[in-house]
Amino acid sequence: MIDLDTLTITKARVALDGKIFSAVDLAKAYLAEIEKKNKELNAYLEVYDDVLDQAKEADERIAKGDSSPLLGIPLAIKDVILIKGRKVSSASKILENYTASYDATAIIKLKKQGAVFLGRTNMDEFALGSSTENSAYGVTKNPHDTNRVPGGTSGGSAVAVASNMALASLGSDTGGSVRHPAAFCGVVGMKPTYGGVSRYGLIAAVSSFDVIGPITKTTEDAQIIFDVIKGNDILDSTSVPDNFYEKISLKKELIIGVPWDLINQEGINLEIKKNFEEVVKSFENLGYKIKDIKLPNCLALYYIINFAEVSTNLARFDGVRYGLHKDGKNLLEDYLLTKGAGFGKETRRRILLGAYVLSAGYYDAYYGKAQKARIALRKEFIELFSEVDLILTPTSPIPAWKIGEKSDPLSMYLADIFTVTANLVGVPAVSLPSGFMEIEDLAQAGKRLPLGIQLMASHGAEDLLFEIGKKFEANIAL
Ligand code: GLN
Repeated sequence: MIDLDTLTITKARVALDGKIFSAVDLAKAYLAEIEKKNKELNAYLEVYDDVLDQAKEADERIAKGDSSPLLGIPLAIKDVILIKGRKVSSASKILENYTASYDATAIIKLKKQGAVFLGRTNMDEFALGSSTENSAYGVTKNPHDTNRVPGGTSGGSAVAVASNMALASLGSDTGGSVRHPAAFCGVVGMKPTYGGVSRYGLIAAVSSFDVIGPITKTTEDAQIIFDVIKGNDILDSTSVPDNFYEKISLKKELIIGVPWDLINQEGINLEIKKNFEEVVKSFENLGYKIKDIKLPNCLALYYIINFAEVSTNLARFDGVRYGLHKDGKNLLEDYLLTKGAGFGKETRRRILLGAYVLSAGYYDAYYGKAQKARIALRKEFIELFSEVDLILTPTSPIPAWKIGEKSDPLSMYLADIFTVTANLVGVPAVSLPSGFMEIEDLAQAGKRLPLGIQLMASHGAEDLLFEIGKKFEANIAL
């Protein structure tokens, strides 16, 4: 029996290379968990039928002495990343049964390693949401309390890792979609610098925010995956050069900025604040200097740009070129019928709002102004990172909520207050498990809700996040 609870990529590598177990054994162990749990949790939209064949190929390579870091490692992939010949839907009816005609660059890199793809995971339609409730294929449930959401939009990917249905997974992060579900499910979620991982083959939500990132059980595992999938790509002109990354020096005294004003606002859950204050104290005890900094609330800015880019990006799903097609009396009616039937409510809302903020009379007041504010924010951040090395916040202002509890969109948007800023300025960020919160109705079942903290670093300072993350896991994790 393989102990999946304590297994990490690092440990699995040692066991696979040492022939303690084979890639086929490992894949079988995960398939058995999926068989047991996926029906209830709905983390996977599809489990591939060739998993054992992939694992067998990995074993053949291992037998020849190949020990690539991800060879034989079973991964779950968010349903927004293209794998040639396999279905990909962005959890939308409009792309139901759509088959990818090419591999995303991140997937090519994983295939070269010999990673084993278990299946594609559930998400909010087109990565719009914070709870995975906006999927056209049903909500994904949080394994810590199945009445609650797993966070979003990469909810399926986070749940797969948190419930031993995958050793690690890929998500995508536009405004928190890797970090947020990682915090709600008690795992590690890492958002690289914008352009750190190629967007080629990632179905676009907001092209100037989107980035692919790993969800794992440990920081070290996140680093292993990032090191494989990162890199400049001729097929993505926004990908950063390979020599972009900062060499870190851990010798000097590191300064962590904490935006206390933003954290002490109304609306931040008190248990989260308590947990966060303990984390800050622990960092202080470890010798880090804590500095009070100011961070603006960037939600309005984020959502204006989000709506605008979503409305333009999703215009391509017109029923002519991809997926669903509904026949009307003329082309306009084709469009109306297809989009009406194919897009969910939140997606339609964002397309409408996006068309509004981009329309002739309102462009300057909304989108134009937002772009100016974004440039100013980026400048502010560059200055900020000359004063501090890292910025620390909770990942989410509230813990996992009950399914259906947040029926108005605005209250859901507010959950993104700490995560969207990193996407607006393009800096890397990571969410780390920081302990648990007791909830009355869970206590009887001996269950608790996981909490997470977020660390941001300056552009290209991923290695700093990894080093601090490992230190945090070893010394602080509550
Ligand atoms: N919750 C944010 C939104 O709805 C972020 C989603 C994401 O990162 N894809 O836009």
